[in-house]
Amino acid sequence: MIGSIANNPPPEVELDDRLDNESWCLSYAFRLRWPQGFVCPSCGAAHPKSSFQEKPLCRACGRSTSITAGTLLHGSKKSLGTWLRALWWLSGERCSISIMKLKNHLGFSSYQTGWAWMKKLRFIISLANRTKCCGIVLVDSVPAERSVTGEQLLSAIESVAHGHATGRLQMQLNDSLSREAIAQFCRQTVTPGSVIIGPGRAPFTSVRMEEMIYTTEDSSFHHEEILRLCASYQLWRRRNKCRWSPRLSTQSLVDEFCFFHNGTLCTNREPLFEDLVFKALTHPPLNLESLKELPASPGGEA
Ligand SMILES: [Zn+2]
Repeated sequence: MIGSIANNPPPEVELDDRLDNESWCLSYAFRLRWPQGFVCPSCGAAHPKSSFQEKPLCRACGRSTSITAGTLLHGSKKSLGTWLRALWWLSGERCSISIMKLKNHLGFSSYQTGWAWMKKLRFIISLANRTKCCGIVLVDSVPAERSVTGEQLLSAIESVAHGHATGRLQMQLNDSLSREAIAQFCRQTVTPGSVIIGPGRAPFTSVRMEEMIYTTEDSSFHHEEILRLCASYQLWRRRNKCRWSPRLSTQSLVDEFCFFHNGTLCTNREPLFEDLVFKALTHPPLNLESLKELPASPGGEA
């Protein structure tokens, strides 16, 4: 859906410059949101091959709308260009993000604005981090940090990627470890037809799936890499001074860690940026109050 733009991305420097041009940002968002032409958010009428308009007018119901109407960016007081600049910044981060970094980058005077934006950005990260692992995928689990309830951190990672020792990483917190939980995690994070290699211990040894080859029988296989990544996550949390937080908060941090890891696999930022913008423009608005469980910042500024 986003290939028409992804196939011809502007060079990185050029894109950075273009974000100052609000008209270009609106045109970019229009083409990403409606690659086949404007579709009215009010009545659903399609207008195939319609060209860019800053305020698209629906010929069926007569209403004009904004390009961000009915999306995560709906009703923002800031310009679309400011949002795109925030997402561009996000696409280039590889270690950690914080409200203060965002606030300084965008020149916000209000800490509260940075706090609200960071919640949305973290939600967009969770949406953008859904590309499944494929090929040969390693799966394992470790106890979640500070878990007192048996909570487990399930992880799946592609065994190889072009030019990298390991590929995409997906992690998920689970209340407990059962063969059903492992199978569900694999279906959510791994492409059907892939080969999954799990550790040779219960309950992994009792997992059965038809959509993909699942085995624990490769005795030559070692899970050091996935365990190393789990250890990296725990260290990353501690380095960022993350407070203990409820489960949803912690899953948000897990998503963020995976986002950074997977970002290092990208040779350029444009496709990642485009995916972030696409997710922001294709998800309905959120009530920020519904996101109050999310952490304010790994740095604990709020
Ligand atoms: Zn309409």
